[in-house]
Amino acid sequence: MSARTLDGAALATQIKRELHDRVAAFTSAHSRPPGLGIVLVGEDPSSEIYVRNKLKSAGETGLRADVRRLPATAALDEVLAVVAALNASPDHDGILVQSPLPAALGRDAEQVVFDTVDPLKDVDGFHPDNVGRLVQKRPRLVACTPLGVIALLERSGVTIDGANAVVVGRSEIVGKPVSLLLMHRNATVTICHSRTRDLPAVCARADILVAAIGRAAFITAEFVKPGAVVVDVGINRVTDAALVARLYPEGSPRRAEFERRGALVVGDVHPEVWNVAGAMSPVPGGIGPLTIALLLSNTLKAAEARCSRSR
Ligand code: NDP
Repeated sequence: MSARTLDGAALATQIKRELHDRVAAFTSAHSRPPGLGIVLVGEDPSSEIYVRNKLKSAGETGLRADVRRLPATAALDEVLAVVAALNASPDHDGILVQSPLPAALGRDAEQVVFDTVDPLKDVDGFHPDNVGRLVQKRPRLVACTPLGVIALLERSGVTIDGANAVVVGRSEIVGKPVSLLLMHRNATVTICHSRTRDLPAVCARADILVAAIGRAAFITAEFVKPGAVVVDVGINRVTDAALVARLYPEGSPRRAEFERRGALVVGDVHPEVWNVAGAMSPVPGGIGPLTIALLLSNTLKAAEARCSRSR
């Protein structure tokens, strides 16, 4: 393993420490902490873990966070009513609707619900107003995972200005916004997707390669220019023992973890890339913890903006 580790977990701890003091200052100035309302519909086990982690991190930072739970059988109108109540709540500065919503709510439910969140409380940055403002380079609240990617690069001393950046993935929540953020920092950005021709060759031109695909270990060494900076956004739960055996050698800590737990969280980047890249973010311990830290940062930002408007 030769690449420098871009340690997202350590940076997330540092960002939360910095936030702690600002949250304390807000709380004493306004006689209440910044408030985050989380809407959780159904009992998806991964969502339960994500929400628990968000509540824990919020508590550590001094923010107030609470969860509005709805059963998987809830109707769309009920979900919208909960969002409307949070929009009107004086105690909530930020609102997060945990994705995915149950499939029974319908194909467009997430979009309808996200569009209903007050854009000034939209700490996920998914509302079209906030996306439009990002496109126009006058961002207000920006999606947390893309912000985490930029924070990791900038705080690790990676030069974005003038770099060739390749982003694999064009989703609304990761690929597109991260591409815009990189472009606004003067990277020359190529956005790839499932229809990109000769993907390995396109990726191999990157000084900065961001993988946000959702396919375990898809980005192998042939995709990576020696010395490139690689950011692995993927979170893939792998239960296939044969795949784990191909990725990690017998006796390695990750193999032992798989044998203990029967599953492993793996990024979109193959472990062999550690031998080629100049710097790389691990999974776990890379972008995941930063996403939560930036969510808390967005909540404080929304709270500060709200209080300065009402002055
Ligand atoms: P989506 O499924 O919404 O998007 C995946 C993107 O990857 C699409 O643009 C798709 O292309 C592209 N893609 C899929 N297969 C290929 C392929 N064979 N070659 C090239 N491109 C391909 O995923 P998300 O953006 O929501 O998430 C991506 C990953 O990041 C997931 O593993 C997810 O779990 C993780 N994630 C991690 C977060 C964190 O906190 N660390 C937060 C959010 C996501 P096309 O558009 O053509 O279909």
